[in-house]
Amino acid sequence: MASSIKLEIVSPDAKVYASDISMLIVRSTGGELGILPKHAPLITGILPHAMRIKKNGDESLIAVAGGFMEVTPEKITVLASAAEEPINIDINRAQAAYKRAKERIEAFHQKQPPMDEIDLIRAKAALGRAIARLTAAGSGYE
Ligand code: ATP
Repeated sequence: MASSIKLEIVSPDAKVYASDISMLIVRSTGGELGILPKHAPLITGILPHAMRIKKNGDESLIAVAGGFMEVTPEKITVLASAAEEPINIDINRAQAAYKRAKERIEAFHQKQPPMDEIDLIRAKAALGRAIARLTAAGSGYE
């Protein structure tokens, strides 16, 4: 069995990550997946979360805001709406985004002021992105 698979993570701004890895653990729209070398071909949606990359016995995290993933037996390609390695995550910005999203969700439930359902959906999505960044950066968020 091949011991590595290529991983490439691309965002609209940049190629965020490219390396040979031993495993990717990813939260897809269909549930959590562990992708090993020689995985069956697959295309799926990706939810906001901290992806786990296993390489050389170590595990590292990358925040992904959402997107799509294509898997072939030799290569994983993640097309992310945004993605950041921990070193590039602005923790203060993510904490501010987390707080703003929490306040919007609370305001929706309090109906102060009345908000559209779409605002709740947006706030929940923003909360998911903030949690992904804070998790990848190793920061708390309560
Ligand atoms: P914010 O409300 O702080 O803008 P957001 O979740 O709305 O956060 P996105 O739309 O996901 O932001 O991303 C917009 C751009 O900003 C992307 O290039 C993303 O990589 C970058 N970005 C967003 N938040 C952070 C952060 N905390 N640290 C580093 N880069 C970030």
